[in-house]
Amino acid sequence: MEPPARGFFMSIRPIRLTNTLTGKKELLETLEPGKLSLYSCGPTVYNLIHIGNLRAAMVADMFFRLFRRAGYDVNFVRNYTDVDDKIITRARQEGTTSEDIARKYIAEVEKDYAVAGLLEPNHKTTVTTHMAEIISMIEKIIAHGQGYVVEGEVFFSVKDFPGYGKLSHRNIDELEAGARVEINEKKRNPLDFSLWKPAKPGEPFWESPWGRGRPGWHIECSAMASKWLGDRIDVHHGGEDLVFPHHENEIAQSEAACGKAPFVKYWLHSAFLTLSKEKMSKSIGNVFLARDFLTQYSGEIARYLLLSVHYRSIIDFGDESIENAMTGLTRIYEAKHKAKALAGAKRAVPDLRAESLWGDFVAECEKTREQILEAMANDFGTPEVLSAVFQLTREFNRISVEPLAQATPSAVLGAQAFIGILENDLGDLMGLGRLDPEKALADLARVKAARSGGKISPEQVEALIVERRNARAAKNFGRADEIRKELLEKGVEIKDGPQGTTWEYR
Ligand code: AMP
Ligand code: ZN
Repeated sequence: MEPPARGFFMSIRPIRLTNTLTGKKELLETLEPGKLSLYSCGPTVYNLIHIGNLRAAMVADMFFRLFRRAGYDVNFVRNYTDVDDKIITRARQEGTTSEDIARKYIAEVEKDYAVAGLLEPNHKTTVTTHMAEIISMIEKIIAHGQGYVVEGEVFFSVKDFPGYGKLSHRNIDELEAGARVEINEKKRNPLDFSLWKPAKPGEPFWESPWGRGRPGWHIECSAMASKWLGDRIDVHHGGEDLVFPHHENEIAQSEAACGKAPFVKYWLHSAFLTLSKEKMSKSIGNVFLARDFLTQYSGEIARYLLLSVHYRSIIDFGDESIENAMTGLTRIYEAKHKAKALAGAKRAVPDLRAESLWGDFVAECEKTREQILEAMANDFGTPEVLSAVFQLTREFNRISVEPLAQATPSAVLGAQAFIGILENDLGDLMGLGRLDPEKALADLARVKAARSGGKISPEQVEALIVERRNARAAKNFGRADEIRKELLEKGVEIKDGPQGTTWEYR
């Protein structure tokens, strides 16, 4: 095949991102032009994930979406940790095997990811299917003099790895002083960490040159990244709790085994989601399960809540963040609803003033598209994306009033351009604004009603009446009846008359 012509990759949009390794915002330059390898550390599967875990996964998905949109051929790996003490404990409690627990929760997490609109990565990996790669990597580390074996346990020797601490920006002495490290008589240095540990009775094990055992936590990501993405990769992501020791150890292992540095060009870390200012965490027990949120609210409300804040800022989860997400989505879908009606209306006669105003609006849409892409390319500026969309929404609302709301040719083009921004730009990059507006508004109304203890607001009633009218127009009488019943249950009686539908609280 002919090599690509010079300038072939010129169409790739420049992206700047904050690299934990250097502490700076840098211009992304991938190892191979036009290609991008992305690895994100996924959950340990012994339980349903909480909304903080979902944040981390959704941020990685948002990176993936932008890299693709910017023109890269992306290879994205997300892993599941399916060997771990917590999984073993859970299996004992439930009288089953670790394998069963892991299989069960991987399936559950996948369900949550799908409802939350996460795209499929290129590879979803598990530790248990990479034992050969893990063992071979440990052998290399030992052969290079950076690992040692004590009674069936293999340790990484941090003193033999120059540069240990470069990601967390601390030297070995500072790390030793600050770290809560596991006391283990067999270690030469308290910061040394396990690459392989012998199996205790009743634990799952794999055969290895050091006896029956299982890998330490950190080696899995080094081995899986190298297998699917190569010895050096472009972008590695995880929650900020993983900087030390997990990612620091990944660097040490990969660079020691492969002899190539840096293992990762750009390290991206997403901030925590907190509850009353405390990190949401399974071990603290202050968790709100992603499953509960997705059932009570929706995938889109979760996306808005988790992506409307910049990925490097904390989200304090609670009523305010939920209200904010619902208000934002309602604004977007109310405007989309109007735009859809306008785009589909019977054509009106062209009008000079309308033509010129709507013409400007189409140009405004183009400008907004550029602003959205620019904001995303500047370290994934999702708050700026939303503010550009809201500015355009305000403009749309301003001009889509009578007499300009007639479906003149340029008004129709304007409405279509606006829908295009929501679906193809906001939708593509943040996974928001793609739904059918009537359905989205009816769902938002239902969620609001449930939040206010069943008392339904007039706007919510109106939204359901519109949905019912459309259902009837589409001859979907079953749905129309359902809505009438639902309103009755909420204390609202409706009457159909020659003037349309009227309603009152009973
Ligand atoms: P774990 O199952 O604890 O290994 O976590 C899986 C992923 O979720 C990792 O990338 C963590 O950094 C991330 N994570 C865990 N807790 C939170 C939280 N409260 N907020 C944001 N991310 C989190
Ligand atoms: Zn990892």
